[in-house]
Amino acid sequence: MEQFDYVVVGSGLAGLTFALKAAASGTVAVLTKAEIQESNTSYAQGGIAAAVGESDSWQLHEEDTLVAGAGLCDPEAVRFLVREAPAAITWLTEIGARFDSADGILALGREGGHSRHRIVHHADKTGWEIERAVTEAVRRDPRVTVFENAFATDLLVDQGRCVGVAARLIHRGDRRFAARATLVATGGCGRLYTHTTNPRIATGDGIGLGARAGARIENMEFMQFHPTTLYHPQLRSFLITEAVRGAGGTLRNHLGTRFMYDYDGRLELAPRDIVARAIDAEMKRLDTWCVYLDVAHLPREEIEEEFPTISERLESVGIHLFKDWIPVVPAQHYACGGLTTDLGGRTSVAGLYAAGEVANTGVHGANRLASNSLLEALVFASSAAEAVRSEPATPTTLPAPAPLHCVNENDAVRIRRALQKTMTEQAGIVRTTRGLEEARSAVAGLAEQYRKLPGAAFSAYSIETENLLATASFVVEGALARKENVGLHFNADFASNGSQ
Ligand SMILES: Cc1cc2nc3c(=O)[nH]c(=O)nc-3n(C[C@H](O)[C@H](O)[C@H](O)COP(=O)(O)OP(=O)(O)OC[C@H]3O[C@@H](n4cnc5c(N)ncnc54)[C@H](O)[C@@H]3O)c2cc1C
Repeated sequence: MEQFDYVVVGSGLAGLTFALKAAASGTVAVLTKAEIQESNTSYAQGGIAAAVGESDSWQLHEEDTLVAGAGLCDPEAVRFLVREAPAAITWLTEIGARFDSADGILALGREGGHSRHRIVHHADKTGWEIERAVTEAVRRDPRVTVFENAFATDLLVDQGRCVGVAARLIHRGDRRFAARATLVATGGCGRLYTHTTNPRIATGDGIGLGARAGARIENMEFMQFHPTTLYHPQLRSFLITEAVRGAGGTLRNHLGTRFMYDYDGRLELAPRDIVARAIDAEMKRLDTWCVYLDVAHLPREEIEEEFPTISERLESVGIHLFKDWIPVVPAQHYACGGLTTDLGGRTSVAGLYAAGEVANTGVHGANRLASNSLLEALVFASSAAEAVRSEPATPTTLPAPAPLHCVNENDAVRIRRALQKTMTEQAGIVRTTRGLEEARSAVAGLAEQYRKLPGAAFSAYSIETENLLATASFVVEGALARKENVGLHFNADFASNGSQ
């Protein structure tokens, strides 16, 4: 048994921020299932929202966040988030994150839903830069021990209190980690869907872990889909940022028609969920696999200078922005719900905390305002690091973890693919009550199949699939329970006023 003051599952921005801050009051173990930097955080392109501009204020940031959340935000959590934002940016800068600036003043971008320029960024690879900075800071801190390739399989709960984590470490086998407090910072669950912007690690493990520990999990029906990700077998999950449409990119179907005219007066600059629904509808109407984003009419130098990463990545698969149309599909992007937490990151289970995308802090409500998620990870991981100080001492004994049930990887692949198909078709961008009911029984059937399959050797892929099945149930049940169209939840059976 390993003993630390705090154990963190996940090494994205939430996990590493918590580790760095909690290290002031104790020893910290970070368990992460791949290499340290492999996280949603590393892929974030746009930036972090913070009211640091001259004409901006936390009140304006608050208002924009509440509007995006469509009446379902927790106002106290939103106020806390936006007020803490400038200090969070200062902290990141102090630990070495480099943001674009001119004459010592931060260069601020503007994204959909923000009434001011307030997006702090590092070219179009802000997440990569932030993850670099927090990783290097963690490496320098002797009180933080990082265990890479350490897959958390279970939370250890003793008499209703979370007392640590069970994990499978590559080359070292099963280990139990005892802690005064445990933070789940496992990120998202994009792998629930056929198309996602999320990397392979995003398998809803924190939802599975939290559910088995009895934590309250809410708002999972609010799943954000990004309208434009590349449709290409070699570069799956590659996101083409909103800013490309902001710069003048237009959407066309395979016939070349600029179809947004048929859907919304704001055309390509309509809010994310509206553009995603329009593309979904257009693909269904014409029975095509993708639509196209066209920037060929814009000045080549401008595009290459503003979007160097996108330009380079697309060139690597033979797509030239200055002359080709980019094939795009909407893809799952962000989960607004998760383990419900208070302002200090406490879940409903004593000793168990959550931060980052896996948490349901209340700041997103029914829809996330762009660039508020990195901020949420920073702010709530920091407040959790304060809150854990009052937890009792690390226990000296631990309960045994529940036995694992892994299945043969071929079966796990088959079940996962079937799950992704069901979720994409029945619990994706546009839902219907009947489709959701079908999804409910399909997910239950797949979970039953999983349970009945003979046990096999340990496989992280298999446990992830089990976690995805658990996560899917929360999405489907949440969507069935939600009786109105609000924010990201859209059930075609409901009229726009919410009645059936
Ligand atoms: C392509 C893309 C672009 C984005 N752009 C922006 C943006 O511009 N601005 C913005 O605010 N947000 C953006 N987001 C969202 C944002 O990046 C994420 O919400 C945020 O980074 C989540 O951070 P996190 O620390 O909660 O999780 P992550 O960064 O995903 O980290 C999760 C960690 O948990 C580990 N883990 C998971 N399960 C286990 C397990 N069982 N055992 C051990 N370890 C485990 C993973 O390996 C990983 O280290 C973007 C997301 C994507 C995918």
